[in-house]
Amino acid sequence: ARRAGDGGAAKAPLIGMTPNAMGVVGNRRSTEDFEFGEVLGEGSYSTVTHVTTVHPPYREYALKVLDKEHIKRERKTKYVLIERDTLKTLDGHPGIIKLWWTFQDEWSLYYVLEFAENGELLHWIKKYGSFDLRSARYYLSQILSAVAFMHEKGVIHRDLKPENILLDRSMRVKITDFGTAKLLKQEEVAFGASLDEILSEGKESSFSSDFWALGCILFQLLAGRPPFQARTEYLMFQKIIKLEYEFPLGFPTDAKDLVEKLLIELSNVPQVVDPKARLGGDPSNGNGIEAVQSHPFFTSRIDVDARPPAAPPKH
Ligand code: ATP
Repeated sequence: ARRAGDGGAAKAPLIGMTPNAMGVVGNRRSTEDFEFGEVLGEGSYSTVTHVTTVHPPYREYALKVLDKEHIKRERKTKYVLIERDTLKTLDGHPGIIKLWWTFQDEWSLYYVLEFAENGELLHWIKKYGSFDLRSARYYLSQILSAVAFMHEKGVIHRDLKPENILLDRSMRVKITDFGTAKLLKQEEVAFGASLDEILSEGKESSFSSDFWALGCILFQLLAGRPPFQARTEYLMFQKIIKLEYEFPLGFPTDAKDLVEKLLIELSNVPQVVDPKARLGGDPSNGNGIEAVQSHPFFTSRIDVDARPPAAPPKH
């Protein structure tokens, strides 16, 4: 305990020893800050564990541990860094998992992530079979809001799917898994692709690959299964380019229209399908994310009860 009249010199270390609201002391993180709990899941070169700070207020986090040797051997350094850099760039949006700190030791890299207590959206689709329209709108609106923020910051996720959409304690969406994301430079954002790609390949805006994924997610939420399924990747790709999918009976009209407009394949053969036909696929001509956001699926409230759509849905 400090006595009255303690000199100023004694104050600094004492202040430094007080855990802050995040439950940690000082600026440097290490495994000593946390008590390890259950393993939440394993990726191809990482393990994610539920941890609690050893200091009050005993905050919970998800600690992603990446094995350095394995990353080097498998040449995955690029993905690991992209994940860190995009999460840093996207800090501050409630729909994107927060990366609190990173640190390392001789063997591992550590990412201290916001803990998404309710796990993957896929788990809930499997559990309930499918969602009703109100719940689907609740989730998709949040995903779209996070995607809008991402794109504004020049990040294209490129692997949006129910496995990569986590849910917190209040069932709020937290998008994760930015290992295959693309981070555009600020001057490239207006083009929606890197300058190399635009010059060498004449590439269209690649933001719209995330809109296509949004169409698949909406289909899956309401149908309980993804639109394109096949025994092999090749057969699935064939189905995707031929737009071979079927809505189950009773699929809500507005949702059906949105899915159809998002799943239009950006064909390389312009006479087959106009590459800009996809909803959101042509930002420079007024068909950007605003066009997706103003689709009747998001704006019509006719079949929604009086509660605000942002309220967590009852399943
Ligand atoms: P891969 O690296 O092969 O793409 P992955 O992305 O699933 O796989 P990780 O990021 O290591 O790999 O995640 C492993 C599992 O841990 C995930 O499937 C997820 O269920 C769980 N998980 C990841 N991050 C969190 C988090 N912040 N909160 C709760 N659970 C999480």
